[in-house]
Amino acid sequence: MLKVVYPLDGYGCPANQTFAYGCVSPGWALTLNRQAVKPISPQGFFSVVIPLTDGLNTLHFVATSPNGLEQGEQTLTVIGPNKAFKPTLPSKPTTPLLEQSPRAWHRRIEDLRMVLDAGHGGSELGTIAPTGVPEKDLNLRVALAIEEALKQAGLTHVFLTRREDRDVSLQAREVFVEESKAHLSLSIHHNALPDDATPWKHEGTSVHYYHPYAQPLAQLFLETLITSTGQPNDGVIHSSFAMTRLPHTPGLLLELGYTTHPNDAERILAPDFPQRVAAGIVSTVIAAPIEFLGQAVEIK
Ligand SMILES: [Zn+2]
Repeated sequence: MLKVVYPLDGYGCPANQTFAYGCVSPGWALTLNRQAVKPISPQGFFSVVIPLTDGLNTLHFVATSPNGLEQGEQTLTVIGPNKAFKPTLPSKPTTPLLEQSPRAWHRRIEDLRMVLDAGHGGSELGTIAPTGVPEKDLNLRVALAIEEALKQAGLTHVFLTRREDRDVSLQAREVFVEESKAHLSLSIHHNALPDDATPWKHEGTSVHYYHPYAQPLAQLFLETLITSTGQPNDGVIHSSFAMTRLPHTPGLLLELGYTTHPNDAERILAPDFPQRVAAGIVSTVIAAPIEFLGQAVEIK
């Protein structure tokens, strides 16, 4: 079996390199234009850099079973470097930075109000795992596992922006957090590198925050997550995202790992990954009120 999930056939790449990733059956060998693709992870995940020449580039993948009897083939074309293509990045709204949390943690764990926001959904797939599973599904299964673990830990006010596969706009997510009067919002995502990156360069989990007061909290979540999941530390990152700029609720965005990195994909796609993430979240949530109550201002 061979599945190349990225790039899509006929893709026009603005840079002079891109990468391909996907999976083969465990133990199978893979070549791209007759060159061996290595390494391949134990479950068969691969990511490979592709230098691009101007115009049409043909990518011919051949996967072969260990006994040489079975083969899979896939041929793609990539147009590169596509100079006519100029990505226009939307300008981000500027939100004043807050030094102090606008909404305090309550002393009792059962009073803590939390939003879990599974990124993407419906027509918005997010990135794609090397097996072809869309990020929207990975995010949701983690969010549901965290909800379950938080409830077991005694939280009674856990709200999910979506519990099924459906479209939810960013604005609707923001309104949802606001209306839930949450003390904390966690957005759940899985990461991918841009087209021209080297897929082996970035690995692991990162936690994104916007307001300075949320930075220590982001650090705390990152530390417990890398312990509970075994993911490498990809850092605490100041990012201006809709779900980190929330005006009245500390908002963190978790990038749990790169679907484009075979080692991350091994961990992300493991059956117990959602429970490992959930265990990390719960231990932080239980420890955090003690650390953060002192500096928070309570708003009823
Ligand atoms: Zn995402």
